[in-house]
Amino acid sequence: ATPAYDPSNIFAKILRGELPAHKVYEDDKAVAFLDIMPRAPGHTLVIPKNPARNILDIDPEDLAYVAKIAKKVAIAAKAVFAADGVTVQQFNEEAGGQVVFHLHVHVIPRHAGQAMKP
Ligand code: 5GP
Repeated sequence: ATPAYDPSNIFAKILRGELPAHKVYEDDKAVAFLDIMPRAPGHTLVIPKNPARNILDIDPEDLAYVAKIAKKVAIAAKAVFAADGVTVQQFNEEAGGQVVFHLHVHVIPRHAGQAMKP
């Protein structure tokens, strides 16, 4: 089973205002902010305000809303960074590459011929 949501995760602290973040979008249901270790310039994370560990436990409507905001962020980031494309990624549980256990979608502007940092 998916472990319970742990409110001590870093993104929950950002949501509560206990840690700073460079926010690029916010509304009543979601926030987007710059990744602290960008794999390419403009690397942004989109998260729901409602607690959810990952895709395995998130309310489907919250997931759909995060996807809707990820689309807005992808279009804006592609324009702002004059990118040729955008990579959208999302990881679930440790074995799935997840490190921070509050659901997040990576939106990464990409330029032709430029590899993402690891
Ligand atoms: P994931 O769980 O998707 O594998 O990775 C978590 C992502 O969160 C990483 O890209 C990492 O750089 C980013 N990250 C971790 N801690 C912080 C933080 O305190 N602030 C911000 N803005 N990003 C973070």
